[in-house]
Amino acid sequence: AAAADVDVRHESVETADGVEIEVAANIGTLADLGPAVDRGADGVGLFRTEFLFLDRESPPDEDEQYEAYVEALESFDGGRVVVRTLDIGGDKPVPYLDLPDEENPFLGERGIRRSLGPDADLFETQVRALLRAAASADGANLSVMLPLVSTVEELRAGRERFESVAADLDTEGVDNELPEFGIMVETPAAAFMADQFAPHVDFFSIGTNDLAQYVMAAERGNERVSELGDYRQPAVLRAIDATVSAAEGEDCWVGMCGEMAGDPDLTELLVGLGLDELSMSAVTVPQVKAAVAETDTADARELAERVLQADTKAEVTEILTLDQ
Ligand code: PEP
Ligand code: MG
Repeated sequence: AAAADVDVRHESVETADGVEIEVAANIGTLADLGPAVDRGADGVGLFRTEFLFLDRESPPDEDEQYEAYVEALESFDGGRVVVRTLDIGGDKPVPYLDLPDEENPFLGERGIRRSLGPDADLFETQVRALLRAAASADGANLSVMLPLVSTVEELRAGRERFESVAADLDTEGVDNELPEFGIMVETPAAAFMADQFAPHVDFFSIGTNDLAQYVMAAERGNERVSELGDYRQPAVLRAIDATVSAAEGEDCWVGMCGEMAGDPDLTELLVGLGLDELSMSAVTVPQVKAAVAETDTADARELAERVLQADTKAEVTEILTLDQ
């Protein structure tokens, strides 16, 4: 109980030896903003914008999106708000978009693949709304990231869309700046190529829900393979380690916004692996902040080194349990 009682609201948190770790909230709808602020999130580490597009007959227009982004940015005065561009497809159907019937939708046209393809118009509208919101919201600190990136070309093409929309807005007399720009690392390709991505982005956000699914070839949410698709699998931990290591020495911070980030039993390990930011559902923000405050980074690194040597998930779990 003690952990949840620590009043960490609106205070950034440091490890016991003084390393600041950003602890942010994941949000889907604007209704998630209040709890995120109340639970003391430093900002938003993942705004799943596709939720603005679900349960309706037509997509939200530019002004409706603009209002939503302004509200999110203004809820965290100066706190970073990471907005992920549309991640449609896979497990997130949208009836009015007439998505193709695919045999393996998780391996099909999803995330950035749609934004650079059939949803290019929706993507442009979203980018306009985002850049306008960043330009006019009080205390705005916007970052944007692209979902399901697996090639450097996708990153380049996504960034070019932002640059060309920014230039259009300039022409229209709307002063704007390009936001901090990153990608989700949630495909094995992105993890393997992290050293090639790092010089081109300001940050990585590791999406362990999809990363575990794709690294282990075990469908997320499918109980028959949930043991395999677990983020404690050594192969998943190595993909995370490879990503963080590739960003070292580059001007690229590394966060995590998959479910793993919200597990307070894993906070020490994640600090030891070198994560700079953790983003989770608002409920677990206080526990994770308390766990960060108890962590010593030298001990955490030593723990991470031991965990990375484990050859099974059972051994990973055992090392973590003995460490508690
Ligand atoms: C993830 O894949 O870990 C992630 C955070 O994105 P989503 O759960 O929205 O796919
Ligand atoms: Mg994902």
